[in-house]
Amino acid sequence: MPSGFVHDIINLTFIIFASLLYFFLPYDYYPFFLLGFTFSTFLLSPDLDLSYSKVSKRWGILKIFLYPYFFLSSHRGISHAFILGTLIRYFYLILLLLFFLSIYIYFGKKSLDLSFLKVLKHYILIYKYHILFFLLGGVVADTIHIILDRICSYEKKIYVRKLNVKNYRKF
Ligand SMILES: [Zn+2]
Repeated sequence: MPSGFVHDIINLTFIIFASLLYFFLPYDYYPFFLLGFTFSTFLLSPDLDLSYSKVSKRWGILKIFLYPYFFLSSHRGISHAFILGTLIRYFYLILLLLFFLSIYIYFGKKSLDLSFLKVLKHYILIYKYHILFFLLGGVVADTIHIILDRICSYEKKIYVRKLNVKNYRKF
């Protein structure tokens, strides 16, 4: 597996390439694409399935809320699936937000005002393309990550095979 640092350097390089997409993506949505790309690269990459990965450590004290995610996804499992992995991580973030919201309501002894759901739906509809491009940025960043992982593990396999053959000839 490429180290977290290597992933960051490579992703930063890709951010420069992603900047070139500026010329191909709609002007209004491009910043959201870049934001999603950067967010996925540094805080929500597929390596969030490892408690000791660089991306997990960036969560600081909030890392404790990632333990269910560490527990549920084996390394290079569903977290490293194309598109699905990205969507699952965003779904997990939404679940976390709902969890905090219910704690706030319970301890704050607030009554749940369901009208906020209407407001939320209203804004989601208005900003649906912004959200879509944000997600697309995440999907692109995660896809680069997954491809790099696969290339590196393939090269590692070849290296180990070569090493074994050499050792075999020695004896
Ligand atoms: Zn990875």
